Amino acid sequence: MIRDAVTCDRPNCLAILLEPDSLPEGAEFETAVTAAGWQHLSDGHACPACTAGTGPVLERGECPRCSGRTADRPDGARCMYCGHTVPHPTEEW
Ligand SMILES: [Zn+2]
Ligand SMILES: [Zn+2]
Repeated sequence: MIRDAVTCDRPNCLAILLEPDSLPEGAEFETAVTAAGWQHLSDGHACPACTAGTGPVLERGECPRCSGRTADRPDGARCMYCGHTVPHPTEEW
């Protein structure tokens, strides 16, 4: 399977969004891109961090929206760039 990906076209920004595994059948990747907070502008894509003025993404990490570096917080892993928080997985035994 070939995965789509978008990268941020702002200067010095390393943000990237990979096509998710869970993309519903028939759904356009571009729709998922927009849903993740990316903007498709005439001169390229802008990641959610750049769109919000908190970019560019300088360090890669685990953020599912912009691939930016995340920092552990009590409520989850928060992206240092776009601010997206991934809740800590609930431990299952
Ligand atoms: Zn960016
Ligand atoms: Zn992010």
